[in-house]
Amino acid sequence: MGKKVVVIGAGPGGIMAAGKAAERGHNVTLFEKNDRIGKKILISGKGRCNITNNTDIEGLIENIPGNGNFLYSAFYTFSNHDLIEFFEQYGLKTKVERGGRVFPVSDDAKDVNNALLKFLNKAKVNLRLNSPVQEIKAKNNTVTGVVLKDGTEVPCDAVVLATGGASYPGTGSTGDGYVMAKKLGHTIVDLKPSLVPLLAEEEWVKELQGLSLKNVSITILSKAGKKIYTDFGEMLFTHFGVSGPIILSASRHILDYDYKNVKLVIDLKPALSEEKLDERILRDFEKYSRKQYKNSLDDLLPKKMIPVIVKLSGIEPEKFVNQIKKEERRALVRLLKNLTLNINGSRPIKEAIVTAGGVSTDEINPSTMESKLVKGLYFAGEIIDVDGYTGGFNLTIAFSTGYLAGVSC
Ligand SMILES: Cc1cc2nc3c(=O)[nH]c(=O)nc-3n(C[C@H](O)[C@H](O)[C@H](O)COP(=O)(O)OP(=O)(O)OC[C@H]3O[C@@H](n4cnc5c(N)ncnc54)[C@H](O)[C@@H]3O)c2cc1C
Repeated sequence: MGKKVVVIGAGPGGIMAAGKAAERGHNVTLFEKNDRIGKKILISGKGRCNITNNTDIEGLIENIPGNGNFLYSAFYTFSNHDLIEFFEQYGLKTKVERGGRVFPVSDDAKDVNNALLKFLNKAKVNLRLNSPVQEIKAKNNTVTGVVLKDGTEVPCDAVVLATGGASYPGTGSTGDGYVMAKKLGHTIVDLKPSLVPLLAEEEWVKELQGLSLKNVSITILSKAGKKIYTDFGEMLFTHFGVSGPIILSASRHILDYDYKNVKLVIDLKPALSEEKLDERILRDFEKYSRKQYKNSLDDLLPKKMIPVIVKLSGIEPEKFVNQIKKEERRALVRLLKNLTLNINGSRPIKEAIVTAGGVSTDEINPSTMESKLVKGLYFAGEIIDVDGYTGGFNLTIAFSTGYLAGVSC
């Protein structure tokens, strides 16, 4: 006779845990408060779901700045390559893109959820949608059951808590699991937004709202001028500051700075050295020699950006181009190569891709995902104090920890 297992939360962590536990012959009920499984999966990877990353285990750990070492057992038990194989087995073909990112061939996150649903059905998991769990019951530091929000008590031998983080609460991850874990004596390491848009001090960002820049390079500098991070790719200006793929990635590198007292330096023309850019501008200035400066940058910059750059360059906008001095032109070159923003915060946790912090890894056995404080209680996914960079690492964490919890409970 298998045990009676309750899994709370049908995200990637909970689904994997439930299916694996059921495959082992346990009687598994998966409670999900939404009317469907994997709501966050549907919006992941811009609706394409970056399932995992095609790297090795060291590569996974390196990309998990939040307690990556805690995950060795989980990844050795169920690796990213095992995950790809798992999906193939349930009919989901995958492909590898830039940076090792793995996506469904169909580019459709719905297909990931369909594969997971097949897995749950095949394993005979009792899936209970629209069923929020309120509390986990324990006696003598051992799990005895759960209580649903409607008051129903469900006795069980083991619970896997997989309610996710506190980001994008519209997907169901409203942080309920932290409350349940805390009530049972667990330490919740401070929750912080990670992979999150950044706030800038400069008012002029508002004028650039909605402007997306492709192929720019960024550098993040500490107050003391130390280089913290560099990247190349796409970013976006917003009414409050900056966002977009390279900004979200950069944000994790300044979490320890609380997103304050750092500078973001944007190189708008990374393919050109200062000399080459100067030559390029000189050519434009020759072409537009009878125009005013403010009307001479159309070939060089997106339209929206021109008034901002003109203002920041300090060159008189009405000045005719043929009157611009060499030093002024050089200063313009430096500005385009070093457009600087003072970062003074981040958007809130609800707008972050992941939640850093969570149930302390000191209180979880890394070989089983079982709580060290409450017997029969297991954790899976983002609720644990682990977080990775973009690139498929966060879903990999959820699936691998879910697997380990499912085969251990
Ligand atoms: C916009 C966005 C894009 C992302 N893209 C990617 C990506 O492409 N690749 C990647 O690796 N990561 C991505 N992530 C991160 C990744 O989706 C999460 O880290 C991952 O989903 C966490 O899995 P989880 O199972 O721990 O939690 P979740 O996926 O959050 O699932 C938790 C589940 O628990 C349920 N739940 C919560 N409380 C209760 C309760 N009291 N009772 C019952 N059920 C409850 C929730 O409704 C939810 O279904 C993205 C995140 C966001 C927000």
